[in-house]
Amino acid sequence: MRLTFLFLLSLCGCSKFLPPKDRVIALTGATLIDGAGGDPKSDALIIIRNGHIDAVARVNEISIPNGAEQISLVGKTVIPGLIDAHAHVERWATQRYIAWGVTTVRDLHGQTDTVLQLRSQMNLGSIIGPRMFSAGAMIDGMPTTYPNAVGVSTPDEARRAVDQHAVAGADYLKVYTKITPDLLRPLLDEAEKLRLPVAAHLGKTDALTAARAGVVSIEHMAGVVQAATGDATYSYAHSNFLTGWTVEEKGWAALDSATVARTAQALAQTKVTIVPTLVLHDMLARLDNPILLSRPGMEDVPDNAQSVRSVPSLVRRTGWHAADFDAFRRSRRRQDQFVREFKRAGGAIAAGTDAANQLLIPGYSMHEEMALLVAAGLTPLEAITAATRRGAQLLHADSLGMIAPGKVADLVVLNGNPAGNIGATRNISMVMIRGRMIRPDSLRATWK
Ligand SMILES: [Zn+2]
Repeated sequence: MRLTFLFLLSLCGCSKFLPPKDRVIALTGATLIDGAGGDPKSDALIIIRNGHIDAVARVNEISIPNGAEQISLVGKTVIPGLIDAHAHVERWATQRYIAWGVTTVRDLHGQTDTVLQLRSQMNLGSIIGPRMFSAGAMIDGMPTTYPNAVGVSTPDEARRAVDQHAVAGADYLKVYTKITPDLLRPLLDEAEKLRLPVAAHLGKTDALTAARAGVVSIEHMAGVVQAATGDATYSYAHSNFLTGWTVEEKGWAALDSATVARTAQALAQTKVTIVPTLVLHDMLARLDNPILLSRPGMEDVPDNAQSVRSVPSLVRRTGWHAADFDAFRRSRRRQDQFVREFKRAGGAIAAGTDAANQLLIPGYSMHEEMALLVAAGLTPLEAITAATRRGAQLLHADSLGMIAPGKVADLVVLNGNPAGNIGATRNISMVMIRGRMIRPDSLRATWK
């Protein structure tokens, strides 16, 4: 077989079937923010070979390999490709992520077979989109909040749900609001045997109990108010998803600053990562503001993208009124304080969005999240680390989230420098994923 194939190749001279030569790209002259948190480096030379970063140096410090394609990035800033640590990926959104510099997504719930199919299509490159990791369907108590979640009501069922996800090929697990501590413990025990990390959007379990039991991440800061107050009312309220969310979201405003600081310190000691999704809290607190549906970035959302645009139906379903929105807005200050105290206590914060849920724009909302993290008290460089390296660490994906030799060549070229002004992350010149340079404008032309 093999001999015949080689013979045919030599006959027809089909050189495109021969092993390709190394493809080398040299990016020269940019300011580099490497994702590890260090100071920006000027006059950077980044050498990329076959989709991986081969070398990082100063211009003229090492020589550029012969035959390399050179791209001058003088005046630009290079950051690692962004990682949305809390996503619900929809098929229409895949190219939007790339256009906004998001090269990896941590998907945290969808119909298992649908999201895992999308994951393989993007990871194998048959459609353009970010690298995708997925939890498959979330695991919830009974009755489940969403019909496509996996519901469990006994410790045995919790273990079985973990096993099913492992067989299906989930990268990690996501537990939801109705999981009680009695279900969480056997679930975590089974997950540990199968080496599956567990992400938690908590309700009936408080954040400290869950973090001490071994969840890797607290999504949306859920369960923090209950951990701070020790008030079981919050747990009862989560028998209904919307009641639980509403009561807890308002509960933040009732916390005093010493309680917030103490809870943040206790949580930081557990080594759990917080994915605050401040942009989600911010949007829900301003859901009564119709302008948000026409803010910058929305032009990338198709008219029929119901998940992002269905704001009126969400307001109807929740029954939220002006007084509720006022209460949510009061809570925002305490949420920001929690993020600040958690950081000060050495806790790890990863940037995530919850897109494509209401008002959250796939890709673009990562830039809103970074800006909100800075408003809460992170430095711009810390916000960039939260949006890159921290996400990679959550995914146990060592080759992502940093610009350093051996890492994959996923990076974003910015027209300005975000170290002084985080708003500069939105001004994107080019995006490289797997070593391939893409201009957002040419990508946009395909869906405009
Ligand atoms: Zn979510």
